[in-house]
Amino acid sequence: MIHVEKAALDSPIVNKLERENIAYAVVERVEDVPDRKSEIVVLQRHENYCRPCPGTKIYRCCGYYTTDVMEGCPFDCSYCILQAYLSHKNIRVSGDTVSITNSLKEIVKQGIPRRLGTGELSDSLALDGIFPFTLLLAPVINNQDVIQFEFKTKSANIRNLLGLNPKNIVVSWSLNPQNIITDEEYATASLEDRLNAAKTCAEAGFKLAFHFDPVICCNGYAEDYSALILRLINVIPEYAVEYVSISAFRAPSLLIDRMRERKERSAILKGDLSLGLDGKFRYFKPLRRDILNDMLRLLNKHWTGVFVYYCMEHASVWEKNMGNDPGEKDEFEKLFPWSKKHNAGREDAYVVY
Ligand code: SF4
Repeated sequence: MIHVEKAALDSPIVNKLERENIAYAVVERVEDVPDRKSEIVVLQRHENYCRPCPGTKIYRCCGYYTTDVMEGCPFDCSYCILQAYLSHKNIRVSGDTVSITNSLKEIVKQGIPRRLGTGELSDSLALDGIFPFTLLLAPVINNQDVIQFEFKTKSANIRNLLGLNPKNIVVSWSLNPQNIITDEEYATASLEDRLNAAKTCAEAGFKLAFHFDPVICCNGYAEDYSALILRLINVIPEYAVEYVSISAFRAPSLLIDRMRERKERSAILKGDLSLGLDGKFRYFKPLRRDILNDMLRLLNKHWTGVFVYYCMEHASVWEKNMGNDPGEKDEFEKLFPWSKKHNAGREDAYVVY
């Protein structure tokens, strides 16, 4: 059920609901909406919507910025960090489109090549048919040459994207073997549907990214991830790929508690996890190093020119597998194709945080 806060009734997001005869109920405040995943509420909040991705100093963070237009997700992945991160279960959609576009413009004013995206506190495309942030944001993004914007998804919901200018937009998919999708990523699109959607976006001129995140070490994982990479390489042309990330499962203790409370018992909880330096549970370092290395080698063998990075991984794993430490956010960011393209020829190129 969709709810709209009184203060958000004039939002373009709500006008669109009106035009398409999509039913909604008006509420005084978001607190009046039941706290269930099935409830969506449009609210009006004047705030800054673009923030640095919360990283840690111990594990290497890539300097990404988030644009949090939505909090909560209709999908229901067993390992979803939002279960621990958000204080609510219902899905909250920002109706303050003026503040959202102003936040983007503020980032641009810094004049620094940045990567941003909406997929941090929700799935970027899952609800795009009802709340079309792709249509709203694309013209603003296309006008700002210094930013590259990423829509990250586990859906195949690309219909709105196909009419847009792909200029500085990356569409990305989180990928896992189909058995993990079936067992752990409830309500998301199948692997084949994700790959077909990605191929269609490539044909429409969009740059693509893929995130093997989280890599989950269950029975037969090495073969499953090898098969997944080979399938990806078979379907997607290398020229369309902007970057690929790989990262093993990690979770704060609150998320582990939430996963234990779920009706369906996740197979992830059967794995051996140890407490990392940032207070999150992870696979033991030698195991992470091996699986991340195997995946990296396989990708590099077939896609020789694609930038592959580890998300939130220790510098020692980078050094062992990649032969380098990407450094802290500002240094790390310079390794991305977008930054390289914009910083080419600039000896003074730097990123400020
Ligand atoms: S798609 Fe992402 S945001 Fe949505 S439930 Fe899964 S992990 Fe969470």
